Amino acid sequence: MSFKSLGLNNALLKAVEKQGYKTPSPIQEKAIPLILEGKDVLASAQTGTGKTAGFTLPMLQILDATRSSKFRPIRALILTPTRELAAQVYDNVRDYGANLNMRSTVIFGGVKAKSQIATIRQGVDVLVATPGRLLDLESQGALSLKRVEILVLDEADRMLDMGFLRDIKRIMSLMPAKRQNLLFSATFSKEIKQLAAGILHNPVLVEATPENSTAEKVTQKVYRVDKGKKTELVTKLISDGNWKQVLIFTRTKHGANKLTKKLVASKISAAAIHGNKSQGARTKALAQFKTNDIRVLVATDIAARGLDIPLLPHVINFELPNVPEDYVHRIGRTGRAGAKGEAISLVCIEEMEYVRQIEKILKQKLESEVIEGFEPNNTTEPGKPNANKPKKKNHTPRNKSRSSNNSNKSSSNNSNKKRNDNRSSRRESSKRR
Ligand code: AMP
Repeated sequence: MSFKSLGLNNALLKAVEKQGYKTPSPIQEKAIPLILEGKDVLASAQTGTGKTAGFTLPMLQILDATRSSKFRPIRALILTPTRELAAQVYDNVRDYGANLNMRSTVIFGGVKAKSQIATIRQGVDVLVATPGRLLDLESQGALSLKRVEILVLDEADRMLDMGFLRDIKRIMSLMPAKRQNLLFSATFSKEIKQLAAGILHNPVLVEATPENSTAEKVTQKVYRVDKGKKTELVTKLISDGNWKQVLIFTRTKHGANKLTKKLVASKISAAAIHGNKSQGARTKALAQFKTNDIRVLVATDIAARGLDIPLLPHVINFELPNVPEDYVHRIGRTGRAGAKGEAISLVCIEEMEYVRQIEKILKQKLESEVIEGFEPNNTTEPGKPNANKPKKKNHTPRNKSRSSNNSNKSSSNNSNKKRNDNRSSRRESSKRR
């Protein structure tokens, strides 16, 4: 299958070629022809599947073919949950539309609105936006959504997790009822289906990856360790393995800062990326990480959402997320575009319940081991009598032959959407908005 056979025009084919894409990814193969036909699409696709090109390429082709007025009203709106994802999608829109007469821009909070307003005033065809800033500018009369023909909701599941449902409904009310709607989501929960039912008209369902599946070539491991020894262990893993590009997830912003300081003190270059950091600091940290100027990026879930880091070899969960679906998103940062990756979780006894929840949605047991010198002293789970005493194993991180390949595919599981305690996520998002 070639991009040409999907019905894309020469300007877009040239742009795709410039990106070095040889063949369409499965989501592109399925979604592009349907979108070109003008259909509403409900697509299940994780980050890393090529979903952005999947909706952007046909969207640009439609807009290009149907331009009418001399002035440029906003004709396509792409909504994303986070600033980072918005910036990344915007970069893609620019790259893919490089050979078209198309104007686009991106707006999000955390930076001054003045230049965003000025750009919109000059006329843009495609607007990429986070919900908060979009509503803010709309209420100031700085933009109008009355001429939107195509709406994309990207990472819709995360938008709901972050409490954007009301904002999304308000945004819908500002657009014409007749428009093409594309909804992309990593998971298909009951809530997503409800949202889709309210927005999409006779949508075609496109599934590129099984729900809640982890990337195919990711080796997943659990290292059992006491909470107080995690920093030492993570430092040892990175140093002994001489890892050059590691993404570490912490549950809190404070935890991210603390770990970053300790890594830097151990001469491992690192930066933190979370909701309390300015947009400038986040952009700089990500750029340094991508160019290998720093070895470690320590991130909270929300800040990391949508980061596009090709071929990331190592992801470490310093703490497990309390929302099991976040585990799937986190490890989706490794093993991207078919590359091999390793996802390691440092798990103390208090987190064993999270392991079980994650295993339930993955429908797979996670291999658990203990590293010599880091044997946990505390093996009694809260509320349980001396449970899960770990088996001791010798371990040398560089010795890859010990790792077992836990790559997997899990089948869909719609019924198990326990959102236990998403308060920290919401706190972070509301603060940033
Ligand atoms: P996305 O899932 O949209 O975030 O894309 C993930 C990564 O895959 C990005 O770095 C894209 O540039 C890349 N990509 C998208 N489509 C293709 C393709 N057909 N072939 C190779 N790489 C691709």
